[in-house]
Amino acid sequence: MMTAPTPQTAYLGLGSNLGDSLAVIGQAIHLLDQLPHSRVLACSSAYRSAPWGVSDQPDFVNAVVALRTRLDPLRLLDHTQALEKSLGRVPTRHWGERVIDLDILLYGQHMVSTPELAIPHPWLGERAFVLLPLLEIAPGTHVPGHGSARDLWQKLQQKTPQPLQKIGKIAW
Ligand code: ADP
Ligand code: MG
Repeated sequence: MMTAPTPQTAYLGLGSNLGDSLAVIGQAIHLLDQLPHSRVLACSSAYRSAPWGVSDQPDFVNAVVALRTRLDPLRLLDHTQALEKSLGRVPTRHWGERVIDLDILLYGQHMVSTPELAIPHPWLGERAFVLLPLLEIAPGTHVPGHGSARDLWQKLQQKTPQPLQKIGKIAW
């Protein structure tokens, strides 16, 4: 299956902590809008976040976009990975520094579990830099298997604080 029978709304998480991160994220969104059978519906503000998981690296800029797409999940992953490459991403350590990271957070209400793709994104509920921009553009989001994004955010607030700052609009 190359295209889904009906268009779906996918949410993608973008992150960057090398180069001109805000500009690269803007470029990535512009290119996502140009993917076949796809259209960017909404884009969050940009956020600055402290690195998560591997702390000895620069702060990240993060954002979340809603993409209306007829690409099926694996095809969408192929495209986002090609896009990462075209924007200059090179392999580094796990959770390490990168020019651009594109993660598929949600794909409609579908769940996917294959060796190369897990949807909902496994760390979605643990990452303030994902949940807050997601709630900004889609406050009523339900995360299949986990409940409402708002509840996940409330639960995360009870854990160790994750420094996160809204830094403004993204030009794309
Ligand atoms: P990370 O984002 O965890 O730092 P990478 O961006 O290098 O790591 O991705 C590593 C692998 O994660 C990719 O090769 C991809 O196959 C896999 N992956 C699994 N689920 C997803 C998803 N929902 N979105 C993006 N990549 C995913
Ligand atoms: Mg990734």
